[in-house]
Amino acid sequence: MAVGWMKLEFSRVLQGGSRLGVLKGLGRTGQHSLEVPGCLLYSRCGTVPHLTQDTLHNLDKLPSVTQVSLDHLAEHQEVLEEFKEGFKKFSGLHDTVLFCTLNDPATPSPTGYTTNKTVSVWGSGGRIELTAAKFMALQKLLQPDCYVSMADGETWQDNTSRKRVRKSVERTLAHLDECLLVHQASQELEGAALFGVVEGGDVPEERSRSARETAKRPVAGFCLDGLQSGRLNGALRSQLIAAVIKELPEDKPRLLQGVGRPDEVLACVEAGVDLFEGFFPFLVTERGCALCFRFDTAIDPESGDGTPPSESTAEPNGDHHPDDPTRMTSFEMDLKDKRYRDDFRPLVEGCGCYCCQNHKRAYVHHLLATNELLAGVLLTLHNTAHYLAFFAALREALAADKVDFLKRRVLGQTETST
Ligand SMILES: [Zn+2]
Repeated sequence: MAVGWMKLEFSRVLQGGSRLGVLKGLGRTGQHSLEVPGCLLYSRCGTVPHLTQDTLHNLDKLPSVTQVSLDHLAEHQEVLEEFKEGFKKFSGLHDTVLFCTLNDPATPSPTGYTTNKTVSVWGSGGRIELTAAKFMALQKLLQPDCYVSMADGETWQDNTSRKRVRKSVERTLAHLDECLLVHQASQELEGAALFGVVEGGDVPEERSRSARETAKRPVAGFCLDGLQSGRLNGALRSQLIAAVIKELPEDKPRLLQGVGRPDEVLACVEAGVDLFEGFFPFLVTERGCALCFRFDTAIDPESGDGTPPSESTAEPNGDHHPDDPTRMTSFEMDLKDKRYRDDFRPLVEGCGCYCCQNHKRAYVHHLLATNELLAGVLLTLHNTAHYLAFFAALREALAADKVDFLKRRVLGQTETST
């Protein structure tokens, strides 16, 4: 079965293109669901970095889908061959949907290694070259519930020629056809959902062609690749997404790869994207920062002034560097900064996460200053909770016609920080 049980049910589709609903029937037996717009749970080798399974489950309302990427797993092929029971069991994951992508969105891969027949991923031991046959052999060993087809996505650099973009679309379709042949004949992948990848660089016609051709294949959903943060300006990205979405069927999910910043998420949801990779909180944690942007829509801008009360909020102190996704953004505060040394407030007032309920900014600053591992644990708990709460607020705003207010709330932080 190529499409599995997956079914996208909408409670609301807004005029501009935003979709609110639930992706149902996820997993091999179809018992999981995921609200959209939403994000996957980011992991490395099945583990949310810094957290054990026990600690992770301190968090409420975790996404039912865990993302793993082939670059972390490809070098373990022999062990998985020996183990035989799939990656979920191997890594001790139980009650989750395993979603396998080619690359880790938080770790940019070196470019220049794709050929007509192969793509490369980079594990800890170096480069691993994959043909579609090897890619599918790995998928059979991993036995994910959902996975993204092999694709040539090296078209995001500024100097990419139109000819190269066209070639990437051709290659990606050829890879998809090869993957589908194996997928449909494979017992190990029966009931798994295969997502097709839409490429096309920054050329709207190629984006449309890639989407149109991918949509003709029996895929369960679509992955929009090559539109990641730092590569394109927001207006061009929205224009390219619009070109793609015009060609896609309504009833299948659309996952955007490599985009996680809250302002970009809002713009892409308005363009019609359903799902995101959840790697942004991880990037924020790795630079010793805590998410602190606001997304509450309780105050109606028509009746109140909508201005966040300054004493109860965290002060973001990052600059906006849209060109560099590894740099601190204005949605977070840098807890390594000396100003937090004697700040005895929680990371974010009113946050219900374990970190904010039990610890102060000064303590997390101290942990960071002394390189204690607990800093990463506490920051991951807070950042993940904050990010998931933002998606929940976005869904609520879509349901209650408050998206414009939410946008002003989220972007308001950007303005006050500069
Ligand atoms: Zn918190």
